[in-house]
Amino acid sequence: MADECRHAAGVRLVKPSALGCEDCLKQGGWWVHLRLCRTCGHVGCCDDSPSRHATAHFRDTGHPVIEGYDPPEGWGWCYVDEVFLDLGDNTTPQDGPIPKFV
Ligand SMILES: [Zn+2]
Ligand SMILES: [Zn+2]
Ligand SMILES: [Zn+2]
Repeated sequence: MADECRHAAGVRLVKPSALGCEDCLKQGGWWVHLRLCRTCGHVGCCDDSPSRHATAHFRDTGHPVIEGYDPPEGWGWCYVDEVFLDLGDNTTPQDGPIPKFV
């Protein structure tokens, strides 16, 4: 499936911008799952979260590939091609602990 996506080759090693969703932490929001931008390291939240910051980040920047990031699960998603990518060992370690909401 990865060969349908030209962006997989552009995935970078990034430094996560925050321990949790960067924008939710600023706004006092909450999230369900975290998504890490593999172009710039922006940490956002998934589409099951109220604010969907990862998708918003893609719309703002065009950065195509995110990684499932809670914890790193070894898969990525390309917003442009709408395909899952197998990242294998090419995942980003978490600094942790992830801020959690009760
Ligand atoms: Zn792609
Ligand atoms: Zn968020
Ligand atoms: Zn980005």
